[in-house]
Amino acid sequence: MPVMELKNVTKTYKMAGGGTFEALRGISASFEAGELVAIVGESGSGKSTLMNAIGGLDSDFGGEIIYEGKNLRNFSTQELVDYHKKSIGFIFQNFNLISHLNLIDNVSMAMTLSNVSEDFRKKRAKELLRKVGLEKHMYKKPDQISGGQKQRVAIARALVNDPDVIIADEPTGALDAETTDTILDMIREIAEEGKLVLMVTHSDKVASHCSRVLRIDNGELISDEQQLDLEYTENTREDIKVKNMSMWKAIKLAFLNMKAKLGRNLLVALGSSIGIMSVVLMLALGKGVTSYVSSTMKSYTNPNITEVHKKSSTQQTTKNPQNMSREEIAKQQQENMAALTGSGTNTGFTKKDIEKLSKIKHVDRYQKGYSSFSLGTNTVKYNNKQASLMMLQTMSDSISKSSIVEGKAPKNNHEIMLDRATADLLGKNILDKEVTLTLKIGEKTITQNFKVTGLYESQSQSSSTVFFTYAGLQDLYKTNQEKLLPNVVYLHTANKDNTKMIKDKVKDLGYTGSMQEQMTEMFTKMLNIITWVLTAIAAVSLVVSAIMILVVLNISVVERTKEIGVLKALGARRKDIRRIFASEAFLIGITSGAIGVVVTYVLGFFINNFTKAAFEVNVVSMTTKYAIAGIVISVVISMIAGILPSNRASKLDPVEALRKE
Ligand code: ADP
Repeated sequence: MPVMELKNVTKTYKMAGGGTFEALRGISASFEAGELVAIVGESGSGKSTLMNAIGGLDSDFGGEIIYEGKNLRNFSTQELVDYHKKSIGFIFQNFNLISHLNLIDNVSMAMTLSNVSEDFRKKRAKELLRKVGLEKHMYKKPDQISGGQKQRVAIARALVNDPDVIIADEPTGALDAETTDTILDMIREIAEEGKLVLMVTHSDKVASHCSRVLRIDNGELISDEQQLDLEYTENTREDIKVKNMSMWKAIKLAFLNMKAKLGRNLLVALGSSIGIMSVVLMLALGKGVTSYVSSTMKSYTNPNITEVHKKSSTQQTTKNPQNMSREEIAKQQQENMAALTGSGTNTGFTKKDIEKLSKIKHVDRYQKGYSSFSLGTNTVKYNNKQASLMMLQTMSDSISKSSIVEGKAPKNNHEIMLDRATADLLGKNILDKEVTLTLKIGEKTITQNFKVTGLYESQSQSSSTVFFTYAGLQDLYKTNQEKLLPNVVYLHTANKDNTKMIKDKVKDLGYTGSMQEQMTEMFTKMLNIITWVLTAIAAVSLVVSAIMILVVLNISVVERTKEIGVLKALGARRKDIRRIFASEAFLIGITSGAIGVVVTYVLGFFINNFTKAAFEVNVVSMTTKYAIAGIVISVVISMIAGILPSNRASKLDPVEALRKE
């Protein structure tokens, strides 16, 4: 059975202007193993067109090409890929070696694409390089060797998977006379080993070395002569398993290419890392500032206690002030004032409220409390000195021991605690002394003596405050025929990890937390908005990165068009080419992400050093979560930017790609 049979093969090129051109006009021939066939003809006679059809690079032809009894036209995509890998070896006039790979990697490329093991691949490449006399140059790159040597590498590459057909397109066209002889000898040896060699040439001298000469003119076969009889040994083909290339191999190939253009790729990665850096830095900054604010606020309160207030009517209403009548606004202002001064009727907790709150899971006890705000009505007097009291508050566990800076907390009905600043106004040694308070109790104003048992100082509260025990204040109201309704409830839990849950539940039930908490919440909300806005602005630079990566990868595709053609001729699938370019995008992405994150860490370190020295605060809070997010965002953006170029590369037509100058 002939190895290759051509039956009336035709090829018509469609021209850009709409016309057609018949490059092959019905070529029929049959080739056996061990033949060295010269395909001779003038330039433009259709030789390369025929070889491309035989080599499976161009499937758009008329007639039939039968390889070992199988019609090429009926090949599936995978069969065609395997045909490239195992059955056909290409040798080109311009060698078409891949410049950034060393000779071993060049020779074994078809094996890399076939997922052959590293050891076997290297061994086979070295063996073939030795055979073509290049063992001393194995680790060189193609531009470090001469033209004749390059063609020897190309011969070794064509033989690597031990194919049974070698297609050589003017293999000596770019070589001098002496080197031509060496290469021709080698090619003849290949045929003598039992392979079919089809060699395109327009030189009669080259043709005279061949066993058979086919002449083509204007797309037609004009003669087919047997001229020499070559002795060949039966080809015992090595059974090299070809599989599809793995993702890992694609990444490795991409890595080798990236290394070859290290400077350019690093610059791109550096450029796009700026976007990642700004995004991550903004997030870390936002987190740093937010957690600083809330930790400062929280540090003054007891972590086991949840302070509960009733919602004032302003908080309850969902009405926009702009849609309210003048009367409604005035009413609300009155209520707000009442809430502040503690005299409002709707700010007190009823028994039902307290019961509801005390039943929240994990709350093991509660304390009632009362606080009110006054301007000028409440005063304290000692000897002849007098001070205004702005806050009236009851004692609770939420007042930490450390904020009682002198003496102790009041215990009995006639005992009080004052804030230190107010106490200082009244004179030294006020501790354990009797002071006179003038207080507004309900509608009445009363004057009574109390003993100062302790002094209070807190960084969070600086207003002048008097503290009573709740029982004491209740008693005071009672004796004045007034009823004290608690306007604060403190919920206590044994485990502070439950506090968050309790606070959430309190909110669900329609109550609010302490003033500080509400402020912290508002502040955090604002900071979050600012952080996200800044992050979004920073993210715009990511678009720039994406475009930059897209442009660079596109340039890379254009630069490597020929290489892509070679890879396809060696059996790379579309998928493989796409993977190689996608891997390059991935590598750029991961590098730029890593650079961005490292720079953020370094910047964060310096910024924190500075703010620590100036304000005793760390403002950049860089977390692993942000680092990972930065790298992931970077990789995703690069991969998206890489979609177009890698698709473009994968779709390149091998024939056109190989023709590219
Ligand atoms: P050879 O290899 O013998 O020099 P080719 O096979 O390259 O010739 O080309 C045969 C003919 O087909 C030439 O006339 C060439 O101009 C034409 N040709 C080759 N490729 C194309 C193409 N893509 N579109 C149109 N015409 C083409």
